[in-house]
Amino acid sequence: MSSEPLLSVHGLTTVFDVGTAPLVAVNDVSFEIRKGETLGLVGESGSGKSVTAFSLLRLVQPPGRIAAGRVLFQGRDLLTLSEKEMCGVRGAGIGLVFQEPMAALNPVMRVGTQIGESLVVHGLASKREARERAIELLRAVKIVDPDKRVDDYPHQLSGGMRQRVMLAVALACRPPLVIADEPTTALDVTVQAQILDLLREMKRTFDLSLLLITHDLGVIAEVADRVAVMYAGRIVEEGPVRAILRSPAHPYTRGLLASIPHGRAGERLAAIEGVVPNLAQLPPGCSFAPRCPERRPECDRALPPDVTVAEGHRARCVLHAAAAPAGSAR
Ligand code: ADP
Ligand code: MG
Repeated sequence: MSSEPLLSVHGLTTVFDVGTAPLVAVNDVSFEIRKGETLGLVGESGSGKSVTAFSLLRLVQPPGRIAAGRVLFQGRDLLTLSEKEMCGVRGAGIGLVFQEPMAALNPVMRVGTQIGESLVVHGLASKREARERAIELLRAVKIVDPDKRVDDYPHQLSGGMRQRVMLAVALACRPPLVIADEPTTALDVTVQAQILDLLREMKRTFDLSLLLITHDLGVIAEVADRVAVMYAGRIVEEGPVRAILRSPAHPYTRGLLASIPHGRAGERLAAIEGVVPNLAQLPPGCSFAPRCPERRPECDRALPPDVTVAEGHRARCVLHAAAAPAGSAR
Protein backbone atom coordinates (compact mmCIF):
# COMPACT_ATOMS: atom_id res chain seq x y z
CA MET A 1 0.00 0.00 0.00
CA SER A 2 1.50 3.35 -0.97
CA SER A 3 1.01 6.40 1.21
CA GLU A 4 0.01 8.65 -1.67
CA PRO A 5 -3.59 9.84 -1.25
CA LEU A 6 -5.89 8.96 -4.14
CA LEU A 7 -8.70 11.09 -2.75
CA SER A 8 -8.30 13.92 -0.32
CA VAL A 9 -11.25 15.87 0.96
CA HIS A 10 -10.80 19.21 2.74
CA GLY A 11 -13.52 21.10 4.60
CA LEU A 12 -16.38 19.65 2.57
CA THR A 13 -19.62 21.36 3.58
CA THR A 14 -22.99 20.56 2.02
CA VAL A 15 -26.17 22.36 3.00
CA PHE A 16 -29.85 22.08 2.17
CA ASP A 17 -31.70 25.34 1.66
CA VAL A 18 -34.88 24.40 3.46
CA GLY A 19 -36.60 26.42 6.17
CA THR A 20 -35.19 29.69 7.46
CA ALA A 21 -31.52 28.75 7.93
CA PRO A 22 -29.51 26.35 5.73
CA LEU A 23 -29.45 22.83 7.13
CA VAL A 24 -25.82 21.69 7.32
CA ALA A 25 -25.83 17.98 6.42
CA VAL A 26 -22.05 17.69 5.86
CA ASN A 27 -20.09 20.01 8.11
CA ASP A 28 -16.41 20.80 7.42
CA VAL A 29 -15.54 17.18 6.61
CA SER A 30 -11.92 16.24 5.81
CA PHE A 31 -10.40 12.82 5.13
CA GLU A 32 -8.03 10.99 2.82
CA ILE A 33 -8.12 7.64 1.07
CA ARG A 34 -4.80 6.22 -0.01
CA LYS A 35 -4.21 3.88 -2.93
CA GLY A 36 -5.37 0.37 -2.12
CA GLU A 37 -6.96 1.44 1.14
CA THR A 38 -10.49 0.92 2.46
CA LEU A 39 -11.89 3.77 4.52
CA GLY A 40 -15.05 2.93 6.43
CA LEU A 41 -17.44 5.81 7.01
CA VAL A 42 -19.76 4.91 9.86
CA GLY A 43 -22.55 6.61 11.78
CA GLU A 44 -26.22 6.32 12.64
CA SER A 45 -28.87 6.96 10.04
CA GLY A 46 -29.13 10.68 9.26
CA SER A 47 -25.52 11.51 10.14
CA GLY A 48 -24.63 12.70 6.61
CA LYS A 49 -22.89 9.67 5.10
CA SER A 50 -24.88 9.47 1.87
CA VAL A 51 -24.82 13.24 1.37
CA THR A 52 -21.02 13.03 1.71
CA ALA A 53 -20.89 10.32 -0.99
CA PHE A 54 -23.20 12.29 -3.29
CA SER A 55 -21.17 15.45 -2.71
CA LEU A 56 -17.93 13.74 -3.77
CA LEU A 57 -19.56 12.83 -7.10
CA ARG A 58 -21.39 16.16 -7.33
CA LEU A 59 -24.74 14.39 -7.44
CA VAL A 60 -26.43 16.49 -4.73
CA GLN A 61 -29.68 17.91 -6.09
CA PRO A 62 -31.35 21.21 -5.10
CA PRO A 63 -32.34 22.30 -2.48
CA GLY A 64 -28.96 20.78 -1.58
CA ARG A 65 -25.69 22.44 -2.57
CA ILE A 66 -21.99 22.14 -1.79
CA ALA A 67 -21.17 25.30 0.15
CA ALA A 68 -17.43 24.85 0.68
CA GLY A 69 -14.49 22.49 0.39
CA ARG A 70 -12.09 20.79 -1.97
CA VAL A 71 -12.27 17.23 -3.31
CA LEU A 72 -8.88 16.34 -4.77
CA PHE A 73 -8.94 13.18 -6.87
CA GLN A 74 -5.95 12.16 -8.99
CA GLY A 75 -4.60 15.69 -8.72
CA ARG A 76 -7.77 17.57 -9.73
CA ASP A 77 -10.33 19.38 -7.58
CA LEU A 78 -13.59 17.72 -8.60
CA LEU A 79 -15.58 20.69 -7.32
CA THR A 80 -14.08 22.95 -10.01
CA LEU A 81 -14.48 20.60 -13.01
CA SER A 82 -17.00 21.27 -15.76
CA GLU A 83 -20.07 19.02 -15.75
CA LYS A 84 -18.69 17.29 -18.85
CA GLU A 85 -15.36 16.53 -17.13
CA MET A 86 -17.28 15.36 -14.08
CA CYS A 87 -19.21 12.87 -16.25
CA GLY A 88 -15.87 11.35 -17.17
CA VAL A 89 -14.98 10.97 -13.50
CA ARG A 90 -18.29 9.26 -12.62
CA GLY A 91 -17.93 5.61 -13.52
CA ALA A 92 -14.48 5.80 -15.11
CA GLY A 93 -12.76 7.42 -12.11
CA ILE A 94 -15.10 6.66 -9.24
CA GLY A 95 -17.63 3.81 -9.28
CA LEU A 96 -20.71 3.89 -7.08
CA VAL A 97 -22.63 1.04 -5.45
CA PHE A 98 -25.90 1.79 -3.63
CA GLN A 99 -27.90 0.07 -0.93
CA GLU A 100 -30.87 -0.71 -3.14
CA PRO A 101 -29.84 -2.35 -6.42
CA MET A 102 -33.46 -2.56 -7.58
CA ALA A 103 -33.69 1.25 -7.47
CA ALA A 104 -30.33 1.78 -9.18
CA LEU A 105 -30.71 -0.81 -11.95
CA ASN A 106 -32.99 -0.15 -14.90
CA PRO A 107 -35.84 -2.69 -14.68
CA VAL A 108 -36.43 -2.84 -18.45
CA MET A 109 -32.81 -3.21 -19.53
CA ARG A 110 -30.90 -6.50 -19.63
CA VAL A 111 -28.17 -6.62 -16.98
CA GLY A 112 -25.45 -7.17 -19.59
CA THR A 113 -26.46 -4.01 -21.42
CA GLN A 114 -26.36 -2.05 -18.15
CA ILE A 115 -22.91 -3.36 -17.27
CA GLY A 116 -21.56 -2.57 -20.74
CA GLU A 117 -23.35 0.76 -21.09
CA SER A 118 -20.71 2.92 -19.46
CA LEU A 119 -17.99 1.31 -21.62
CA VAL A 120 -19.95 2.26 -24.73
CA VAL A 121 -20.78 5.75 -23.40
CA HIS A 122 -17.15 6.47 -22.48
CA GLY A 123 -16.10 5.16 -25.92
CA LEU A 124 -14.08 2.30 -24.43
CA ALA A 125 -15.78 -0.53 -26.32
CA SER A 126 -18.10 -1.36 -29.20
CA LYS A 127 -21.49 -2.89 -28.36
CA ARG A 128 -20.19 -6.39 -29.08
CA GLU A 129 -17.02 -5.92 -27.03
CA ALA A 130 -19.14 -4.45 -24.21
CA ARG A 131 -21.24 -7.62 -24.11
CA GLU A 132 -18.13 -9.81 -23.90
CA ARG A 133 -16.77 -7.56 -21.17
CA ALA A 134 -20.11 -7.76 -19.30
CA ILE A 135 -19.86 -11.56 -19.30
CA GLU A 136 -16.30 -11.36 -17.94
CA LEU A 137 -17.41 -8.95 -15.23
CA LEU A 138 -20.35 -11.18 -14.26
CA ARG A 139 -17.88 -14.03 -13.95
CA ALA A 140 -15.56 -11.82 -11.85
CA VAL A 141 -18.38 -11.05 -9.40
CA LYS A 142 -19.10 -14.80 -9.13
CA ILE A 143 -22.37 -15.05 -11.01
CA VAL A 144 -22.92 -18.63 -12.16
CA ASP A 145 -23.61 -19.09 -15.91
CA PRO A 146 -22.60 -15.52 -16.79
CA ASP A 147 -23.15 -16.10 -20.53
CA LYS A 148 -26.82 -16.84 -19.82
CA ARG A 149 -27.35 -14.33 -17.01
CA VAL A 150 -26.05 -11.50 -19.19
CA ASP A 151 -29.45 -11.46 -20.96
CA ASP A 152 -31.52 -11.49 -17.75
CA TYR A 153 -33.54 -8.55 -16.49
CA PRO A 154 -32.94 -7.40 -12.89
CA HIS A 155 -36.20 -8.91 -11.58
CA GLN A 156 -35.01 -12.37 -12.67
CA LEU A 157 -32.16 -12.19 -10.14
CA SER A 158 -32.06 -12.58 -6.35
CA GLY A 159 -31.17 -9.59 -4.12
CA GLY A 160 -27.63 -10.82 -3.64
CA MET A 161 -27.15 -11.37 -7.39
CA ARG A 162 -28.49 -7.90 -8.12
CA GLN A 163 -25.93 -6.43 -5.72
CA ARG A 164 -23.23 -8.41 -7.58
CA VAL A 165 -24.51 -6.93 -10.85
CA MET A 166 -24.33 -3.43 -9.33
CA LEU A 167 -20.73 -4.10 -8.42
CA ALA A 168 -20.06 -5.27 -11.99
CA VAL A 169 -21.61 -2.01 -13.29
CA ALA A 170 -19.44 0.00 -10.89
CA LEU A 171 -16.28 -1.89 -11.92
CA ALA A 172 -16.91 -1.87 -15.70
CA CYS A 173 -14.61 1.05 -16.51
CA ARG A 174 -12.03 -0.10 -13.97
CA PRO A 175 -12.27 2.94 -11.70
CA PRO A 176 -9.46 3.22 -9.12
CA LEU A 177 -11.99 4.20 -6.43
CA VAL A 178 -15.36 2.67 -5.57
CA ILE A 179 -17.83 4.25 -3.16
CA ALA A 180 -20.17 1.63 -1.68
CA ASP A 181 -23.07 3.18 0.27
CA GLU A 182 -24.62 0.57 2.61
CA PRO A 183 -23.98 -2.19 0.03
CA THR A 184 -25.15 -4.97 2.34
CA THR A 185 -27.83 -3.26 4.42
CA ALA A 186 -30.80 -4.53 2.38
CA LEU A 187 -29.53 -8.14 2.35
CA ASP A 188 -29.96 -10.95 4.82
CA VAL A 189 -27.01 -11.93 6.99
CA THR A 190 -25.67 -14.86 4.91
CA VAL A 191 -25.79 -12.90 1.67
CA GLN A 192 -24.25 -9.90 3.47
CA ALA A 193 -21.20 -11.97 4.36
CA GLN A 194 -20.87 -13.16 0.73
CA ILE A 195 -21.01 -9.60 -0.60
CA LEU A 196 -18.40 -8.43 1.94
CA ASP A 197 -16.13 -11.30 0.87
CA LEU A 198 -16.67 -10.31 -2.73
CA LEU A 199 -15.82 -6.66 -2.00
CA ARG A 200 -12.58 -7.73 -0.35
CA GLU A 201 -11.71 -9.94 -3.31
CA MET A 202 -12.59 -7.25 -5.89
CA LYS A 203 -10.38 -4.85 -3.99
CA ARG A 204 -7.43 -7.16 -4.57
CA THR A 205 -8.29 -8.21 -8.14
CA PHE A 206 -9.04 -4.71 -9.39
CA ASP A 207 -6.48 -2.93 -7.17
CA LEU A 208 -9.21 -0.70 -5.78
CA SER A 209 -9.48 1.89 -3.10
CA LEU A 210 -12.81 1.76 -1.33
CA LEU A 211 -15.00 4.17 0.59
CA LEU A 212 -17.33 1.84 2.45
CA ILE A 213 -20.32 3.56 4.01
CA THR A 214 -22.38 1.77 6.64
CA HIS A 215 -24.26 2.31 9.90
CA ASP A 216 -22.81 -1.03 11.09
CA LEU A 217 -19.41 -1.01 12.83
CA GLY A 218 -19.45 -4.82 12.54
CA VAL A 219 -19.19 -4.49 8.74
CA ILE A 220 -16.38 -1.93 9.13
CA ALA A 221 -14.47 -4.28 11.44
CA GLU A 222 -14.47 -6.91 8.68
CA VAL A 223 -13.43 -4.82 5.72
CA ALA A 224 -11.93 -1.40 6.56
CA ASP A 225 -8.31 -0.37 7.08
CA ARG A 226 -9.26 2.96 8.58
CA VAL A 227 -12.50 4.31 10.00
CA ALA A 228 -14.10 7.74 10.07
CA VAL A 229 -16.98 8.10 12.50
CA MET A 230 -19.63 10.63 11.53
CA TYR A 231 -22.13 12.31 13.83
CA ALA A 232 -24.54 15.11 12.89
CA GLY A 233 -22.58 15.98 9.75
CA ARG A 234 -19.11 16.01 11.32
CA ILE A 235 -16.32 13.46 11.55
CA VAL A 236 -15.91 13.08 15.31
CA GLU A 237 -13.18 10.41 15.24
CA GLU A 238 -10.89 8.89 12.63
CA GLY A 239 -8.15 6.33 12.86
CA PRO A 240 -6.86 2.85 12.03
CA VAL A 241 -9.58 0.22 12.41
CA ARG A 242 -7.74 -1.61 15.22
CA ALA A 243 -7.26 1.56 17.25
CA ILE A 244 -10.91 2.53 16.82
CA LEU A 245 -12.12 -0.92 17.88
CA ARG A 246 -9.67 -1.38 20.77
CA SER A 247 -9.35 2.12 22.15
CA PRO A 248 -12.11 4.36 20.82
CA ALA A 249 -11.47 7.95 21.87
CA HIS A 250 -14.92 9.48 21.39
CA PRO A 251 -17.88 8.55 23.62
CA TYR A 252 -20.04 8.29 20.48
CA THR A 253 -17.73 5.66 18.99
CA ARG A 254 -17.80 3.79 22.32
CA GLY A 255 -21.59 3.84 22.17
CA LEU A 256 -21.59 2.49 18.60
CA LEU A 257 -19.19 -0.29 19.63
CA ALA A 258 -21.34 -1.27 22.59
CA SER A 259 -24.26 -1.72 20.21
CA ILE A 260 -22.56 -4.28 17.90
CA PRO A 261 -24.25 -7.65 18.36
CA HIS A 262 -21.85 -10.46 19.18
CA GLY A 263 -24.10 -13.13 17.77
CA ARG A 264 -25.34 -14.46 21.09
CA ALA A 265 -29.01 -15.32 20.97
CA GLY A 266 -31.25 -13.10 23.05
CA GLU A 267 -28.42 -10.67 23.79
CA ARG A 268 -29.64 -7.18 24.56
CA LEU A 269 -27.78 -4.37 22.92
CA ALA A 270 -26.77 -1.21 24.72
CA ALA A 271 -28.08 1.24 22.11
CA ILE A 272 -27.07 4.87 22.54
CA GLU A 273 -29.85 6.70 24.34
CA GLY A 274 -31.59 9.60 22.67
CA VAL A 275 -31.81 10.53 19.00
CA VAL A 276 -29.66 12.23 16.38
CA PRO A 277 -30.21 16.01 16.72
CA ASN A 278 -32.17 18.11 14.26
CA LEU A 279 -29.49 19.44 11.91
CA ALA A 280 -31.36 22.72 11.54
CA GLN A 281 -31.11 23.33 15.31
CA LEU A 282 -27.71 22.05 16.37
CA PRO A 283 -26.57 22.86 19.91
CA PRO A 284 -23.72 25.45 20.00
CA GLY A 285 -21.10 23.07 21.43
CA CYS A 286 -20.56 19.38 20.72
CA SER A 287 -23.56 17.96 18.83
CA PHE A 288 -23.29 14.71 20.78
CA ALA A 289 -23.30 16.41 24.22
CA PRO A 290 -27.05 15.96 24.87
CA ARG A 291 -26.61 12.15 24.58
CA CYS A 292 -23.11 11.87 26.01
CA PRO A 293 -22.49 9.93 29.23
CA GLU A 294 -19.28 11.96 29.76
CA ARG A 295 -20.80 15.39 29.19
CA ARG A 296 -19.09 18.34 30.94
CA PRO A 297 -20.24 21.96 31.20
CA GLU A 298 -17.75 23.11 28.51
CA CYS A 299 -19.23 20.65 25.99
CA ASP A 300 -22.26 22.89 25.62
CA ARG A 301 -20.26 26.07 25.12
CA ALA A 302 -17.97 25.51 22.12
CA LEU A 303 -17.16 22.91 19.50
CA PRO A 304 -14.40 20.68 20.91
CA PRO A 305 -11.08 20.88 19.02
CA ASP A 306 -10.04 18.15 16.59
CA VAL A 307 -7.01 16.60 18.31
CA THR A 308 -4.51 13.84 17.60
CA VAL A 309 -4.87 11.15 20.28
CA ALA A 310 -2.32 8.74 18.77
CA GLU A 311 -0.46 8.49 15.48
CA GLY A 312 -3.01 8.71 12.66
CA HIS A 313 -5.87 8.76 15.18
CA ARG A 314 -7.87 11.94 15.81
CA ALA A 315 -10.97 12.78 17.80
CA ARG A 316 -13.13 15.81 18.47
CA CYS A 317 -13.86 15.58 22.20
CA VAL A 318 -12.95 17.58 25.31
CA LEU A 319 -11.75 14.36 26.98
CA HIS A 320 -8.66 14.76 24.80
CA ALA A 321 -8.51 18.54 24.61
CA ALA A 322 -5.01 18.60 26.12
CA ALA A 323 -3.64 16.54 23.17
CA ALA A 324 -2.04 18.12 20.09
CA PRO A 325 -4.36 19.72 17.52
CA ALA A 326 -5.00 17.26 14.65
CA GLY A 327 -2.85 17.96 11.63
CA SER A 328 -0.06 19.56 13.70
CA ALA A 329 2.09 16.43 13.99
CA ARG A 330 1.34 14.14 11.06
P1 ADP B 1 -27.11 8.94 6.24
O1 ADP B 1 -26.71 8.47 4.88
O2 ADP B 1 -25.96 9.08 7.20
O3 ADP B 1 -28.20 8.11 6.85
P2 ADP B 1 -27.91 11.27 4.80
O4 ADP B 1 -26.57 11.70 4.31
O5 ADP B 1 -28.80 10.62 3.83
O6 ADP B 1 -27.73 10.41 6.13
O7 ADP B 1 -28.69 12.55 5.34
C1 ADP B 1 -28.14 13.43 6.29
C2 ADP B 1 -29.12 14.54 6.58
O8 ADP B 1 -29.20 15.41 5.45
C3 ADP B 1 -30.55 14.08 6.80
O9 ADP B 1 -30.77 13.78 8.14
C4 ADP B 1 -31.34 15.29 6.39
O10 ADP B 1 -31.44 16.19 7.49
C5 ADP B 1 -30.49 15.94 5.34
N1 ADP B 1 -30.99 15.68 3.98
C6 ADP B 1 -30.62 14.68 3.16
N2 ADP B 1 -31.26 14.75 1.96
C7 ADP B 1 -32.05 15.85 2.05
C8 ADP B 1 -32.97 16.49 1.14
N3 ADP B 1 -33.18 16.03 -0.09
N4 ADP B 1 -33.62 17.60 1.59
C9 ADP B 1 -33.39 18.09 2.83
N5 ADP B 1 -32.55 17.55 3.71
C10 ADP B 1 -31.88 16.44 3.34
MG1 MG C 1 -27.38 6.84 3.79
